[in-house]
Amino acid sequence: MKQQVDYVITNGDIFTGDRDFPYISDGAIAVAGNRIEALGPTQSLLAQYAPKQTFDARGAVVHPGMIDTHIHATSIALHSLPVTLDQVSPFKVSYTDVKVQTDDEITEALTSAIAVAFLRRGYTCFMEAGTVLETDAFASALCRVGMRGMVSAPFGWDDIGHFATHAAGMISERLLERAPATRRAVIQRLEKELARNADKNTLVRGYVCLYGEGSATDGLTQDAYELAKRNGVGFNQHQGFIRTWYDIEAAKYGMSGVERLQKLGVLDERTTLTHLNVMSESDVEMIRSQRPGITWCPNNALHRGVHPSDPCHFPKLIEDGVCVSLGMDTTMYHPFGAAGIASLLLSAAVGQRLDDAEPFYMQTANAARNIGLAQELGALSVGKRADIVVRAVEDITHTPLEHRGGLLALSSSQIPVDLVMIDGRVVMQDGRVTNVDQDEVLGKALERRRELLKRAQAN
Ligand SMILES: [Zn+2]
Repeated sequence: MKQQVDYVITNGDIFTGDRDFPYISDGAIAVAGNRIEALGPTQSLLAQYAPKQTFDARGAVVHPGMIDTHIHATSIALHSLPVTLDQVSPFKVSYTDVKVQTDDEITEALTSAIAVAFLRRGYTCFMEAGTVLETDAFASALCRVGMRGMVSAPFGWDDIGHFATHAAGMISERLLERAPATRRAVIQRLEKELARNADKNTLVRGYVCLYGEGSATDGLTQDAYELAKRNGVGFNQHQGFIRTWYDIEAAKYGMSGVERLQKLGVLDERTTLTHLNVMSESDVEMIRSQRPGITWCPNNALHRGVHPSDPCHFPKLIEDGVCVSLGMDTTMYHPFGAAGIASLLLSAAVGQRLDDAEPFYMQTANAARNIGLAQELGALSVGKRADIVVRAVEDITHTPLEHRGGLLALSSSQIPVDLVMIDGRVVMQDGRVTNVDQDEVLGKALERRRELLKRAQAN
């Protein structure tokens, strides 16, 4: 008697994301409820399981949903908008002017469109980098589309002194009204986001994020870390983005930002730091011994010319077993899905070229660990949540001759997506989202984006 399951995906070229058991040729995956029940060769799986529905992958690549561990969500909807106004641009406003003018309706419309853009590239989850003000609208949009997300308090900071002196364009009166720079306000807002996790099956989970780069007092940093610990979630902040910020922080505290976190007792495996494009040798040593996770955004290091004056340490840290995942940060001037290929090129430029498969693992297993969900996501293995992507074969470059070549293309999101399942539910089929009208989502987002720019220009 065959065991009943909800779905079986058959005839896939499966990349599991599990380094001990990485590939199954002509493989199948059985899904029961929101979890993976079994995987193995198609024929033997079909002999054991009776699915309510079957999906034939027709030889296409199948993999665990990819996870981006650092993106400022609204940036995706604002492609080509300058970050600051000193950049030459026909726009009369910058990202700073725009991001504070959002409301529930704008955030809901943009987030829905962002979710579609992620799904179309094989991502099933992303960690919003703590800059969405309307977090409830953000969460409800993701849930409507059926996509996962991690969300935190916006602009977790209580010490903006050096922004005012060195980067006045980054803050405004309106932003400080909406995201008050006080310890109490930040902790309250973090608690609100963490309350989402009471539902174990929620698609949008709260985590603890501070803005970072020296914008939190010792007190807020320690309180936020303790809150993360009590709630069993990760603690994250920006760190060491560019040399200017590194030096400002070092001058302010008389030590590097990494050393300060170590002294405050918050540099360990619960913590993930984003960027670390700039590190001293002693920072590297601390990272190696304390083992925080790191989100690497290689596009920034290249685009902003941080490397080679500040050499990239990531290939060595990865070799030493530090858990590194990838983030895009913003897509205002970075192509969506390019972090994988950028990481390989940057590693080659420092003379320690990563294995072609590494960007795939950085966006699956490592990413799941860095968002605190290693037990649930990041690999196709029995018992994990069923977050599965089936790619499409539309031209000869989508059918690689060997596995590593396939992973390289996949990691750079160059293979179109056919089917996406999240938590055991089909949210994209034939390359179109299933829960909402994709054309309507795009139309509404474009309309709300025009309104957003208009509002920012009026201010
Ligand atoms: Zn960022």
